[in-house]
Amino acid sequence: MGGSPARTVRHRARKEGRFIEAVRRVWQIEKSGRGVAGQTVVIIAVFFFLFGIVVGSFLNVCITRIPEDISIVTPGSRCPRCGTPIKPYDNVPLFAWMWLRGKCRSCGAPISVMYPLIELATGLLFVAAFLEFGITQTTVKWLFFTCLILILTVTDLRVRLLPDAVNWPGFAAGLMFSAFVPPSNGFAGVLAERFLQVRLPGFAAGILDGILGAAFGSFLLWGMAAGYKLVRGHEGMGMGDVKMMAMIGAFLGLRGTFQTLLVGSLLGSIIGIGLVVALYFAGWRSELAKRASRRGLGTEQRLRWAIARQYQLPLGTFLGIGALAIVYGGPVIAAQWPILRGMVG
Ligand SMILES: [Zn+2]
Repeated sequence: MGGSPARTVRHRARKEGRFIEAVRRVWQIEKSGRGVAGQTVVIIAVFFFLFGIVVGSFLNVCITRIPEDISIVTPGSRCPRCGTPIKPYDNVPLFAWMWLRGKCRSCGAPISVMYPLIELATGLLFVAAFLEFGITQTTVKWLFFTCLILILTVTDLRVRLLPDAVNWPGFAAGLMFSAFVPPSNGFAGVLAERFLQVRLPGFAAGILDGILGAAFGSFLLWGMAAGYKLVRGHEGMGMGDVKMMAMIGAFLGLRGTFQTLLVGSLLGSIIGIGLVVALYFAGWRSELAKRASRRGLGTEQRLRWAIARQYQLPLGTFLGIGALAIVYGGPVIAAQWPILRGMVG
């Protein structure tokens, strides 16, 4: 497809970071009768989706096994209740869950809807990466990052853990990727030029930007954790969040890390407050509050508030969603609202 209109359009779109414009132009090519280019894009997107759901199926294995320190290679997938090995045809990503209607073929144990949902999400994010970055090194970088973030995001949501087995290799991979595909704004290069009058070679600027992002992100979160402990008197955030932020920083560089923290903590506050209120009204652990109230520890209402506020929020999940929003949403926002380009580009 060398030199095809779709490729030219995508190349330009990549340069300008204008995802929406690219989609519009491809659509116009299709309507103007030169449909081949548009069809090619659709066919490649379908391949990215299929590749994505297969990868998503492997991510499910990582998500369920890494927190329990089980090998992600052997043994093959089994039903957690009856232990029957899952047959290859029942292991097809996304579709197997649908034709099994979410139940084990041998014992009928329900299979969590988490599995097909993660496969679907991975497939859709792979398509988004292709549409935004084409078939480039940049795509490889963000696909890899997406996989790491999906593992951490879901693991934190399920068991409130951000495993080091993902954080540290992810951090190293992030720096390596930043050498080849520097974080988009090249902030470290600009700093070096302005303050040290040195022109850094591309790979060095990329790595330095990754290191600055990692240092900034983890230091800020570590400070927040220390502050939280000081104010509330107990641990509210784990070191897992700090290490996860170092990994995100290595991939996104200084500015992307700042944006991720902004979006992640905003999301966490809004959902966090909503969740506490919802838990209160849903009567979460109201029995405990009643008993404590009978023992004269306070009014039942006040105790229910206090208990709801103890709910541990998965901060890593919010940071992960924030990071993905910056990677995939940034170029779209920049294309839609040019006035915001300086902030999200
Ligand atoms: Zn079973």
